[in-house]
Amino acid sequence: MSTKPVKAYGTKSAESDLEQLKINRRSVTAKDVEIDILFCGVCHSDLHFARNDWGMTQYPVVPGHEIVGRVTQVGPGASKYKVGDLVAVGCLVDSCRTCNNCKEDLEQYCPQWVGTYGGYDKHLDSPTHGGYSETIVVDEDFVLSVPKNLDQAGVAPVLCAGITTWSPLRHWKVGKGSKVAVVGLGGLGHMALKLANALGAEVTLFSRSPNKVKDALALGAHKVVISTDDAQMEGVMNHFDLIIDTVPYAHDLNPYIGTLSTNGTLVVVGYLGPLDPMLVTVPMIMGRRAVAGSLIGGIAETQELLDFCGKHIITSDIEIINIQNINDAYERMLKSDVHYRFVIDMKSLKE
Ligand code: NAP
Ligand code: ZN
Ligand code: ZN
Repeated sequence: MSTKPVKAYGTKSAESDLEQLKINRRSVTAKDVEIDILFCGVCHSDLHFARNDWGMTQYPVVPGHEIVGRVTQVGPGASKYKVGDLVAVGCLVDSCRTCNNCKEDLEQYCPQWVGTYGGYDKHLDSPTHGGYSETIVVDEDFVLSVPKNLDQAGVAPVLCAGITTWSPLRHWKVGKGSKVAVVGLGGLGHMALKLANALGAEVTLFSRSPNKVKDALALGAHKVVISTDDAQMEGVMNHFDLIIDTVPYAHDLNPYIGTLSTNGTLVVVGYLGPLDPMLVTVPMIMGRRAVAGSLIGGIAETQELLDFCGKHIITSDIEIINIQNINDAYERMLKSDVHYRFVIDMKSLKE
């Protein structure tokens, strides 16, 4: 099929920096939408993928799955969007559409879901490439509508950091009176504070970083517990209905289990891999406490979140960068020095 060369930023190996590359986008097929990318958020998953932390990266990889842009072309069979619309693409660009998960709007759990990068583009018979690029071509069913009242750069992180924390908040039915805690104040963590607060919950942040306390309270936390302080941890035993753990690396979950109330759940969204140290089951059994996991969110749920953000005027707290500074941004992310999401102004790639 015919393709169009576009500028992108990516890496050819786990050890090299990201650099400018040329990639091919497919020509618009019947149900496709072509999007001129305006902004793209920088997720810790982009870094994990670029550096092959999960052992499955195919190179070259072009990361980026928090995409906001304008429609520039629509296929003859596409009817949801028109040229000029402000739209977004998150972590998913296709799925099988026929399995039970797809039928229940849980495309993220479809065995054949296609990631925005590192997935498989059936039209091109090659890996998908993400939003660190000039344009992207996506089936209209995986394109989202962006509320016009929201800041275009600030809304980008809603597409991953937002939906990844929104989905567990909704699944565990968080609302007025719920007691929610969030572990780690980075991209996901700061969106979790904002969203749980907007849903009416009592919100607590667990952090290792005392210098983030003031920000956490401004972002929507009612309380901050420094997780390395035993007395502060003791003060919240048997308390939370839901804990969302956003920490990207292996860490001890056991100290958090006892802070759950009876029937409480700790949902891991950050770290992917074997736990170290292992879980001690005693506090789980003595209180019917659960440890669960959750992956991003489906397309309908992501649109629900975008609409909720439009209504409550919620966007991410961002630092806008040029694409040429992406390698520095990754280094700062590794030091937990993000306040609280980098967003790339894609003009910097086009100039
Ligand atoms: P981020 O912006 O780098 O934030 C992570 C935060 O975790 C840091 O700010 C820090 O907060 C805390 N932290 C970092 N290293 C830690 C360590 N070794 N021990 C304890 N705390 C640590 O990352 P993000 O973009 O929010 O992503 C978080 C994780 O979620 C990543 O692993 C990413 O791949 C994953 N993710 C999962 C999904 C999913 O669908 N499940 C979706 C998107 C991202 P404090 O300074 O407050 O301690
Ligand atoms: Zn992400
Ligand atoms: Zn499916």
